[in-house]
Amino acid sequence: MAFDSLSAKLQNVFKNLRSKGRLTEDDVKAALREVKMALLEADVNFKVVKGFVKDVQERAVGQDVMNGLNPGQMVIKIVNEELVRLMGSDTTEIELQPGSAITVIMMAGLQGAGKTTTTAKLAGKFKLKGKKPLLVACDVYRPAAIKQLQINGEKQGVEVFSMGENHKPANIARAAMEHAQKNGNNVVILDTAGRLHIDEDMMAELQEIKETVTVHQTILVVDAMTGQDAVNVASSFNEKIGIDGVIVTKLDGDTRGGAALSIKAVTGRPILYVGMGEKLSDLEQFYPDRMASRILGMGDVLTLIEKAGVEMDEEKARQMTEKMKKAGFDFEDYLESMKQMENMGGLSSVMGMMPGLGGMGGGKMPEIDSEAGEKQMARMEAMIHSMTVEERQNPDKLNPSRKHRIAKGAGVDISEVNRMVKQFNESRKMMKKLPGMMGGMGGKKGRF
Ligand code: GDP
Repeated sequence: MAFDSLSAKLQNVFKNLRSKGRLTEDDVKAALREVKMALLEADVNFKVVKGFVKDVQERAVGQDVMNGLNPGQMVIKIVNEELVRLMGSDTTEIELQPGSAITVIMMAGLQGAGKTTTTAKLAGKFKLKGKKPLLVACDVYRPAAIKQLQINGEKQGVEVFSMGENHKPANIARAAMEHAQKNGNNVVILDTAGRLHIDEDMMAELQEIKETVTVHQTILVVDAMTGQDAVNVASSFNEKIGIDGVIVTKLDGDTRGGAALSIKAVTGRPILYVGMGEKLSDLEQFYPDRMASRILGMGDVLTLIEKAGVEMDEEKARQMTEKMKKAGFDFEDYLESMKQMENMGGLSSVMGMMPGLGGMGGGKMPEIDSEAGEKQMARMEAMIHSMTVEERQNPDKLNPSRKHRIAKGAGVDISEVNRMVKQFNESRKMMKKLPGMMGGMGGKKGRF
């Protein structure tokens, strides 16, 4: 699968960062050097890599730091955001003409890139959207290409317009338009001829089609496995005939992924879809954000990090911070902070800050089994709910008989109550020692 090796390398870099707790600027620089190497090895365009690392570095050492995330998480967050930006930020849909007007899409690309296959795949997508596509065989040089389009069109249940090999592609396109108008087709997809290399004849032919019929979208098909060649091809086509978007095929067989990562940055044109196999259903819409998560192999963690950015109730956060500094933090506050945490949805992202649940110091994010953590948290909540208000406000008053009662009420073993109280007290001690530690809570931005 694409990005496997890049993904493994980046995850390794981040694992090292996370295990460090506090990061120095040198740590970040060293990590980014590895990120750079990993991207270059994934065959990402050199200039793109340089710009990428520079942007990440500027943000990572700049002031763009969100309270509540440790520096390691911050770097991951920034790398993720920059990867998404690199690939075009938003998902780009193929723009269709309004109402019943016919949308004309011209498919272009080198021979073997997967153009004919992709044309049929795309027709299937439009059909699913309730459109009535017409596929047009404009590749007059290879009889096999016409046959292939017919076979694939049939499989998709989509009509194919062909005039054989003895007409100029531009004339075929014009005739196809008349046919589409008569037959009520509202999307016309022109499958044009490719060549082995960029060549003037091919460009002239595409240009002629554009001058003969109104082409609304020119879509370039490139083969991911050709790496940076695919990017160069995209640049050439864009300069010579102008393209609106790119479909990257054979991503399923490409272990590096450099083309997918560089095309938008180099050509300014978005990736619309990616081909993930030979079957006609193997065409996926391209989502930069999902692709970035896939590359980083940490979809869940990223979601949690996002959630840590959710606004916290400012006043409550301020009060809690004050209490923590004075070590007056009690079980009532504990319950309140659990509620806040539920609002944020993620346990892992805040676990390290919760007394008794994770390491208090260093902002280190422990490797957590979230499910087990959630269960543990539910049990703690049950134990606190079994306490009287007085006990919650004065944890010091918890004697063995009270603990027995609490254990019974919560349906847990007494040892668990003991453990929680012990951890809670240790955490309180630690909070007293580290008055500045929770300074971010309820800070200027009111963010956790
Ligand atoms: P064209 O010359 O550009 O029209 O290319 P074709 O559509 O004939 O495709 C060339 C070869 O690539 C065929 O064997 C296709 O089955 C294969 N192909 C196309 N797209 C994909 C893809 O996304 N993944 C894989 N694995 N093969 C693909």
